[in-house]
Amino acid sequence: MSVLLPGSMVNGHPATLGVMGGGQLGRMFVHAAQAMGYYTAVLDPDPASPAGRVSHHHIQTDYLDEQGLAQLMQRCAAITTEFENVPAPALLTLGAHRFVAPGADAVAIAQDRAAEKAHFVKCGVPVAPHAVIETEAQLAAVADDLLPGILKTARLGYDGKGQVRVKTRAELVSAWSELKRVPCVLEKMLPLQDECSVIVARSGSGVLVHFPVQRNLHRDGILAVTEVVDGLVPAALAGQAVAAAKAIAEGLHYVGVLCVEFFVLQGGQLVVNEIAPRPHNSGHYTIDACDQSQFDLQVRTLAGLPLTQPRQHSPAIMLNLLGDLWGANGESPAWDRVLALPGTHLHLYGKLSARKGRKMGHLNITGATPEAVRATALQACALLGIEPF
Ligand code: ADP
Ligand code: MG
Repeated sequence: MSVLLPGSMVNGHPATLGVMGGGQLGRMFVHAAQAMGYYTAVLDPDPASPAGRVSHHHIQTDYLDEQGLAQLMQRCAAITTEFENVPAPALLTLGAHRFVAPGADAVAIAQDRAAEKAHFVKCGVPVAPHAVIETEAQLAAVADDLLPGILKTARLGYDGKGQVRVKTRAELVSAWSELKRVPCVLEKMLPLQDECSVIVARSGSGVLVHFPVQRNLHRDGILAVTEVVDGLVPAALAGQAVAAAKAIAEGLHYVGVLCVEFFVLQGGQLVVNEIAPRPHNSGHYTIDACDQSQFDLQVRTLAGLPLTQPRQHSPAIMLNLLGDLWGANGESPAWDRVLALPGTHLHLYGKLSARKGRKMGHLNITGATPEAVRATALQACALLGIEPF
């Protein structure tokens, strides 16, 4: 692929990077691209989308709209995506005429839990025992050993949605009906000790770099806290996680930023859970705690610029800020009090209405020592009404 130099002119127009989807991940991509001197274009039907509002260009059409896609291609030399459910045909159309990263094939695998699991197996990384359920016969043939388990829709699940926990065969049968008998994956319920994730970036020339392994705490199926502190994830385990993430990216011939989520089982064994073909909520701390953020690396991979190994310069904790923290009439939390704490970095996504469970922003906390970061994070939790961790 060719290099799109920052701040350059292409056919008389400023070099422009495009993104499919206008959510907060697109917004932070736009911020990083603009900081480096690129123009940006966002395709998202929502006129109030967080990324659309800050981009040079905002194309407000459906993801499959031919004119919208044509406009995006006319504006942009290279295009990325910020959510994994961008319709694959849209990426194929774009990919036929423009550099698209990650490619449609990799995104299609990440869109489908069954294909994703098959890819993990192919890469030789450990996965949860599971079975694909698309037919009555497959439902009947499920091994007893997979129960109790979690039945997950193969497609379109996120933040714990599209999942039912089942203890018995009878529950499994009714859960599949509840999920409208769409293709599903049944996973054995595993005894989790921890969850962690790794973000890697791979360039078009095959250079692979990675961020440190993050420890993640989920609440009600939604990421609540990410901690990235030396020694929190044992070194041997972190090494395995990075190696697995790199094998998965290599196996996909991936170009772009990829997040791999893991379970750490009681007993210390590592299991790959799922991948996201984009920057990830668990990597938001990189904006303030690393010399390059996950969004900077997304820009570099898309523009064909060199990748160098990023370095974390400060221990960090990220608190996700959900709509639950806002008042009943939309009153803002006491940011002035939170920002009086040392090393706090507030990121709000510009969403105008706060709903329960809606990701409104995140708070990164950095400091000189892990103890200082943790103490500040707990103070921020107390001020905001977030349950301590
Ligand atoms: P989502 O796409 O909604 O993030 P995940 O598959 O990551 O779906 O599941 C959400 C959460 O549910 C996980 O972060 C984990 O806490 C729990 N979970 C998922 N699968 C299992 C499993 N096989 N065993 C135990 N807990 C699980
Ligand atoms: Mg998940």
